[in-house]
This record gives sequence, structure tokens and C-alpha cells, in this order.
Amino acid sequence: MARESRSAIVWRTLQVLAVITLSIVLAGLITWPDTTLAVLWNVIIPLVPASLLLSPALWRNICPLATANLALNWPSGRKLEPGAHRVTGVIAFALLFLLVPARRFLFNTDGVALAAVIGAVVALAVVSGLLFDAKAGFCNAICPLLPVERLYGQRPLLRIANPRCVPCTLCTVRGCIDLSPPKSVAHVLGRARASHSWLRTGFGAFAAAFPGFVVGYFTTVNVPLREAPDVYLHVALWCIASVAATAVIVRLFRIDATRALTLLAATAALIYYWFSATAMADTLRLGDVGTVGLRLAAAGLVIYWLTRSRHLAPAR
Ligand code: SF4
Repeated sequence: MARESRSAIVWRTLQVLAVITLSIVLAGLITWPDTTLAVLWNVIIPLVPASLLLSPALWRNICPLATANLALNWPSGRKLEPGAHRVTGVIAFALLFLLVPARRFLFNTDGVALAAVIGAVVALAVVSGLLFDAKAGFCNAICPLLPVERLYGQRPLLRIANPRCVPCTLCTVRGCIDLSPPKSVAHVLGRARASHSWLRTGFGAFAAAFPGFVVGYFTTVNVPLREAPDVYLHVALWCIASVAATAVIVRLFRIDATRALTLLAATAALIYYWFSATAMADTLRLGDVGTVGLRLAAAGLVIYWLTRSRHLAPAR
């Protein structure tokens, strides 16, 4: 009992620190944008994929948006019913595909615009918490990071409890990632996970597109706002190529959904750290050696994650 209390205190402290960090970032984006943007995009955000591979609970337990989602939450009785993820999933994908490429023509260079969008998302999370039970309106529904959490977090290396939902109210009737990351993926795929038709599900298409999405983002450069359509077109073409390549490989080598999804997550993570290592090392002043070290560390983590994933049974 005492141990549980200590753990709850530790998580609560980390949640408060995360909220304070977000407040500092928001203030920094307005008053000291260049440094804050560099630290946010090149140091803080790159920690997220690695933490999701370790366990999605690491991030979800401290995420300040989740804290906002639960800040004014009350038992309204509105839950996320089975099947609703088809609609909420599309909204989450749309937000992700809208916001990430926007870094290239807005959020990588305009601190005030980024602060405004983060503020709007925080407000959306708070309102969702007022309207729906627990995380049913935001964290488990329309959060743009949720599909990424599911993909990278499908086979966590660590077992970490969820201190935010004590007790669980089953706000998300099926597919809550906090209850079971592997089952969450299985539930959003539904029966399609037993055949190649998983690629035609919303989450399947997202997973297949995601490595291309990462390549697409990193093979563009920062451009003026007027070139926004070119950025989206470039990223979209990479997504289409990624889905096509996945479909061919999956059929050619008869790869089932469980293995395909772990391979897609590993591929996306490797690509992400290959490209982002240079900016990370630059911001941390680690030089070329740092770039190589970060790439090797990321590759080591991903390979270890893949090796461990091989021994896990498919989720039912
Ligand atoms: S653990 Fe329970 S209460 Fe918490 S988000 Fe999941 S279903 Fe909702």
C-alpha cells in the first residue's frame, strides 16, 4: 500500500513537472523562440518515440495534454463505444498529417504560431474531458499522437502501471492503450488482423504509410507559407509509396499483421532517428561523433525491441 502511494506521488510529481515544462516552453516560444524551437524539436520531441518503444505508459502517464484532458474531468457517462475509433481514428490521423508537415512552413520557425496551436490543443483536451468520461474524448480518441503511440507502443519493453485511472471506469469500451497496448492494436484492427485485409483498415493504412510519412517530412526543407501545398504533396506521395511498398512486401513474403506492424514501427523509428540525429547532435553540441552515437543508440534500441517482439504471441 505504502509502495503504491510512493509510486502515485512520483507520477504526480512528474506530471506537475511536465506541466511546468510545457508552460516554460510556451513562454519560451513567445519570448525566446529560436532557442526554444531548437530545444523542443531537436531534444524534447525526439525522446518521445524511444520512450514509446520502452512503454507508451511512460509518456502517457506524464503527458501534459493528458493532464489537461483529466483536469476538469467528471463521470459524464459518455464513453468511447466500440467502433467509434473508426471515426475518431480518422480525426487523429488527419490532425497528425495536417500538423507535422506544417512544421516545414510554420512551426519550425514561428514560435508564436506553435504556441497558439499548442494552446488550442490544450483547450480541446480540457473541453473533451468535460464532455466525455476519463480519456474517452481526447487521449483515446482524437489525440494526433495516439496512432503513433499505438504503433510504437504495441510491444512495450517495460511494464508500467497507469496511475491516472484508479479505478478504471472503462471509458473506452474496447481498445484502451493504457489497459493493454497489444490488445489496443488488435481491437482497432478487428477481425481484419487475421488476413491481409488489415492493410485496408484505418490503422493498418496509417501504419503502412508511416515510414513514408517520416521520410517525406525529413526530405523536405523549411519553406515559406505559400509553398505549403508542395510540402503536403511531397509527404503524401511518400505515404502512398510507403503503402504500396508495404502491400507488395506483405503479400510477397506472406507477413502477418503482427509481424508487419512491428516491422513498420521499427522501420519508421530507424528512419526517424537516422534523420533527426544530426539536428539533435547539433543542438546538444555533440558534433559528428554525437550524430553517429545517437544513430547507433537508436538502432540498438530498435533492434533490441524487435528481438523481444519476436517472442511475444499475437494479441487476441
Ligand atoms: S484505463 Fe480505463 S478509465 Fe483509463 S483511459 Fe483506459 S478505459 Fe478509460
